[in-house]
This record gives sequence, structure tokens and C-alpha cells, in this order.
Amino acid sequence: MYADVHTHLTHRAFSGEQDDVAVRAARAGLDCVIVNGLEPRSNREVLTLCARHPHLYPALGIYPVDAVAASIDRASWTYGFEPPDVFDVDEEMDFIDSVADQLVALGECGLDQYWVRDQAAEQERVLRRFCQIALAHDKPLILHSRKAEQRTLDIVLEMGITRADFHCFGGKLKLAKQIAEKGFYLSIPPVVIRSQAFQRIVQEVPLDRLLTETDAPYMGPDAGERNEPSTIPRAVAAMAELVHLPVEQVRDILRQNCRDLFGV
Ligand SMILES: [Zn+2]
Repeated sequence: MYADVHTHLTHRAFSGEQDDVAVRAARAGLDCVIVNGLEPRSNREVLTLCARHPHLYPALGIYPVDAVAASIDRASWTYGFEPPDVFDVDEEMDFIDSVADQLVALGECGLDQYWVRDQAAEQERVLRRFCQIALAHDKPLILHSRKAEQRTLDIVLEMGITRADFHCFGGKLKLAKQIAEKGFYLSIPPVVIRSQAFQRIVQEVPLDRLLTETDAPYMGPDAGERNEPSTIPRAVAAMAELVHLPVEQVRDILRQNCRDLFGV
């Protein structure tokens, strides 16, 4: 069987199709899909969606860009999408804390210095609170670390975190190896089929520290196409080729890694 440890089935790209996508994932051989929330709306949708499908598991968090929505300067926001809605970040962390025992992980959470570059202190405050919630409920973290990879690692180590997945890691290979040496995991998306950076991580980081994710609807195997959890077997086949091992063996190691970290 296969696992997708990081996906966004509440994204509007899946609206009206969430249940079909969940069924297609099961048909493709996935018995574990961890659906990650990003802000109040998706966090609640994750809980109701996962309650409908036994192979879907919830992780709730606050995306680091949403975490600083209140201080984003909307006039100078020049990206081709709307800035995130403002909400009460502390109230949302209280909510996540209150339901943490129903979750398989806290996430997605972390730091982002790609979309927002001047809100590091507030992002770090939120990440520290997620570390506290994870420790109090004995749950692993699913971490976003774009353009802040070293800082994310430093903070989780300082907070005493021992169980975490660095999702879609975009930092240096040397740092990826250090993350693995600390006992943390890196989850590899299906874009590995065409991304040299992820191919190098697969070849250089021990297989027992890797996981599979889709980050759907993003990071798919085919450029410009909507990604979904059912693409995981294609990613695992590509990973097996990269490490020159039989695909069944690589599939089983990666599935076991998910059990070891998330318990599902
Ligand atoms: Zn994500």
C-alpha cells in the first residue's frame, strides 16, 4: 500500500470532487492520505472530510503566510492571487489545541520567507506555539520551510521536537542530510519525476528517512496538471529507479516510514 502524508483536498481545485478524489486514491492503492489544513475554513473542512473516509486522516495547522495575514501590506501585494483572509491566529491555535487528540499531526505549519519576507518574528511565534501543542499531545509536525529551512530546523530543535516531516523541502542537499541525521523525515512529491533537486534528495538521503506526499493540487508529475493523491504510485516507481531497488521494496519501506512517524 501507499501513503500521501501531505495533501490539500479542501483546495478549491477539488470543490465538489473531494469524495471522488478520495475514492480514486483508495483504488490506486493508498490506505493513508493525510489531509492538511491551512486556516480556519480548511481546518474545519478537513475534519468533516476525514470523518467520511476511513483512509483519510486529519492534520490541522496554520500556513505561515496565513499566520501573518493581518500584517500583510495589501496595497503592495503583487502576486497573481489574493492575499489570505485575516483571522484570529491565537483563537485558531486554541481550537487546534482543543482537537489535537483527534489528529495524526500538527500541520501544515512552519516558516515562509518566499511569499512574505518581513514577518519572521510573528511566524516564529506561531511555529513555537505549534511545537508546544505537538509536545503536549505527543503528535508529530508537518513543516513548511520555504526559504527558511535552516531557521525552521533550528527552532524545532530548540523546542525539543523529535518527530517531524519537512514537506517539499527546497533547501540545500547538505541541510536535507542534516535533517535526516537528526531523525526527522523529508516527504517527496510526485514532481520528483521531473525535478533534479528532489531526485538528488532521494539518492542522497537514506530511504528510511523519506516519505511520500502530493501537496495536491500542486507538485504533480505532469507540468500544468492538477495533482491528486492517486499519483503517488508513479512517484514511488520513479524513486525506486533512482535508488536501484525493486519498486515493491521501496513502496513498503516508504509506507512503513509513515506508520513509524504518524502511527497510521
Ligand atoms: Zn502544503
